Amino acid sequence: GSVPKAPYLELNDGHRLPQLGLGTWLGNSSQGRIKPQGHEVQQAVEWAIAAGYRHIDTARVYGTEPQVGAAIREAVRRGDVKREDLFVTTKLWNDRHAREAVVPALRESLAALGLDYVDLYLVHWPIGQFSIVKFITMVKGLASKISINHQLSRVLFKHHSLPQPNGSYDLTGHLSTWRGMEEARRLGLARSIGLSNFNQSQIEGILAGCEVKPAVLQVEMNLNLQQESLHAYCASRGIVVTAYTPFGSLLKGGAGAGAGAGATRVDDTALVEMAGRYNKTVPQIVLRYLMELGVAAIPKTITKQRVEQNIDIFDFHLTGADRAALRGLDAGLRTIAGGRFVVNRGEPQPSPEALDGTL
Ligand code: NDP
Repeated sequence: GSVPKAPYLELNDGHRLPQLGLGTWLGNSSQGRIKPQGHEVQQAVEWAIAAGYRHIDTARVYGTEPQVGAAIREAVRRGDVKREDLFVTTKLWNDRHAREAVVPALRESLAALGLDYVDLYLVHWPIGQFSIVKFITMVKGLASKISINHQLSRVLFKHHSLPQPNGSYDLTGHLSTWRGMEEARRLGLARSIGLSNFNQSQIEGILAGCEVKPAVLQVEMNLNLQQESLHAYCASRGIVVTAYTPFGSLLKGGAGAGAGAGATRVDDTALVEMAGRYNKTVPQIVLRYLMELGVAAIPKTITKQRVEQNIDIFDFHLTGADRAALRGLDAGLRTIAGGRFVVNRGEPQPSPEALDGTL
């Protein structure tokens, strides 16, 4: 078997989260594709487990659950690792926010993974989107009720400007969705439950009415977007933060809002000099910085040497002066354009185009 490399963060429900995990969303890579080719994700997860990763991050919408599951089942079969030693996260997509849709959605994820539970189930975004499946069911149901054909019902719906399947909100309240999450936990389908992309006031809304507190908040957090106040708020409420897109604008140019100008980049002279002093790479320095801030991080790579490099950060400490210098680089630059989902209800809806290539 392989040896676990990362320390653990204690969650508020008694479980523990390996501080470094492997991300598996392909949409943010230079390859620029969403769907995995061949067995590239399965292979990366196998390399990761061999390198000492115990935490794997996926989501229904990534399309990578089958490969993540295959890698896990293979590693368990080979005796490299036990299922209970792994921490697997997946996420509820925006079109399943209805309370009664949550458990069936998780069952679909589990079937795709070939597992009987996940360690963590997250509400992926605080914005529900109208489901095409739900829409078609509704149209069919109404059409049969009032005995009109589909063509006519489509015309009627158009004229009554009923929600269109793309880009419309599902106005299910967050607490309703959360009830479904709590049910998933009660059934043992998810050991822990949490949130992703929720802001402070949205988290407060959950805390005010929940039975089970969210264990984790997963948000974009990196050198150029340090999330100090959200992190402090979560810490004060016993919620562990996981940093997604942990490289952010460091590696990525131009993709998202503000990714370009003002960002500290991987070739920054001071960062290169700092990394040299520790005999590490700049990506390793920024991951180490996140570890020292006390958050989890889930860097994604399907490159074997980078899979190994990204977890090779537990044999050194940053000096106080270097930590302070890194803290000074926060620029509030977000790369994941959550704006297309994270708008206040009541504000203009995102256009269907803006929903393309969703994460
Ligand atoms: P990352 O910050 O992890 O960056 C991924 C990119 O960095 C890839 O192009 C990868 O290349 C490259 N890379 C990785 N390691 C290195 C290295 N050591 N040196 C140089 N380049 C490197 O971005 P992601 O957006 O993928 O975020 C990580 C994970 O977070 C996602 O995969 C997903 O699991 C999760 N996530 C969650 C979201 C949410 O809404 N909850 C939103 C976005 C992400 P390559 O693969 O070619 O090696």
